[in-house]
Amino acid sequence: MDLLTLLLENKIEDTLCFPPTIKSSWLAEGVLQLLPQERPQEKKADTLIISAGIHGNETAPVEILIQLVSQLAQGSLPLQHNLLLIFGNLPAMREGRRYLDNDLNRMFGGRHQNFPLGNESSRAIELEAIIRQFFSEPAVMASTKHRHFDLHTAIRGSCHEQFALLPYQTREYADDFLQWLEDSDIDALVFHNTAGGTFSHFTSEHFNADSCTLEVGKARPFGQNDLARFSNITAALQDLVAGSCAIKRDKPALKRYRVVDAIIKQHDSFQLNIPEDTKNFTALPESFEIASQPNQSWKITFPANFILFPNARVAIGLRAGLLLVQLT
Ligand SMILES: [Zn+2]
Repeated sequence: MDLLTLLLENKIEDTLCFPPTIKSSWLAEGVLQLLPQERPQEKKADTLIISAGIHGNETAPVEILIQLVSQLAQGSLPLQHNLLLIFGNLPAMREGRRYLDNDLNRMFGGRHQNFPLGNESSRAIELEAIIRQFFSEPAVMASTKHRHFDLHTAIRGSCHEQFALLPYQTREYADDFLQWLEDSDIDALVFHNTAGGTFSHFTSEHFNADSCTLEVGKARPFGQNDLARFSNITAALQDLVAGSCAIKRDKPALKRYRVVDAIIKQHDSFQLNIPEDTKNFTALPESFEIASQPNQSWKITFPANFILFPNARVAIGLRAGLLLVQLT
């Protein structure tokens, strides 16, 4: 049976073995802690968290993570750093849905309290507790560099196929973290302007991790992903896990954007005035009314004329799009 099937059938814990150089423990269903037992004296271990499937229908990241797990288990990928691998929302993955009750990636940082208890709010509580426990591991406490990559795929097409969303933080973004993102050959960075309930925001705010939500491409069902399209991300993560620092950018320079405004749906009659298939990072004309609801409308004002994650079908109170300015 392949690892993905074992994961989805909750049999992976009993089946998977790691080389004696790796101390493995499952902290919860779909949460695997791997600590290197031996490494060269001169190399210091950092701490890495890689998560996937926080949205259950975003399968490519899950397949990327399975690939890493498989290589670590076979011993073909050496482990340099303390590593926590998280398969986020298994019940939703089994049903091929983004979530069962509510969006898990809006619940972190205690925001799960604002939702009725359900599949996702229970998982948010569990994942927050696990992250706390992981950061109190002596090996993790001894490391100075903490990074978290939360892998996703976008619902729609995008003018920049691969991009990272960096959570809002008051401290500087670490240069070597931005450099890694640059070297991973993704196309764009987006800097958030406010705090949010995402998983990457949680690890950034509460554990000072260099964190990002990494959008690796478009969402497709299991088995329909062309993993070659994500080979740059896989290679960059392998490089990081092994501590080899061998990747170099092969594409034109990264584009950078900053979030300026969020379009929040507050009413049933909310309207988004762009076609459903509008791509992420589409540039819109000056003064165009992009969205409206009773007593409120959003008009494009330069230079904040790029739209990200437009989606009129979100629940009331949630974000129906972000307006971005391109940084030069
Ligand atoms: Zn997602």
